[in-house]
Amino acid sequence: MGTITWALDPLDIVLSPSQVNDLGDLYQAELIEFGWIDNRGRRILCWDGGRMMNHSCHANSLSPIAGLELAVRDIAPGEQITCDYAALNIEEPFTCACGSANCRDFVAPAQLWQMADIWDAALQNAVQHFDDVAQPLRAFLPTDVATTLQTARRNPSQLTSTRTHWFDNSGEAMSSPVQ
Ligand SMILES: [Zn+2]
Repeated sequence: MGTITWALDPLDIVLSPSQVNDLGDLYQAELIEFGWIDNRGRRILCWDGGRMMNHSCHANSLSPIAGLELAVRDIAPGEQITCDYAALNIEEPFTCACGSANCRDFVAPAQLWQMADIWDAALQNAVQHFDDVAQPLRAFLPTDVATTLQTARRNPSQLTSTRTHWFDNSGEAMSSPVQ
């Protein structure tokens, strides 16, 4: 718990919406399956094992800041690292069979607004362990992200909310969708 499980690095591909359009249909399926969308509408395609990270409704890794995932509980050797796709601005809801006790049965982007308090609490708990665990990916963090984490370690309530991952497709200012 508290270990960085993934960090955006310069080898990851970051595509603007127009760049995605320019690629045409040939690449869409791969981008949707292996990529995710940040809060600026950019498509991120990880070059490393991050692209294989599966969804769980009881994810063991969550993201407090775009470009960073933290383990929110201890992960056993051989256990797969999972995240919550509701935080990734997926374009289509999907039926979920993740097998967790609290499976939501389907996953949709607007669930971010239902889950954010739970995710934020888990991350605020995890970040307090940041300096107590090995951080093999620490060197890949941008300086400002590392500073944010150090501050949050001492003041967890100051950690960025997962709500900031929301991308509003309408082009309006970031806001909660009507529930
Ligand atoms: Zn599920």
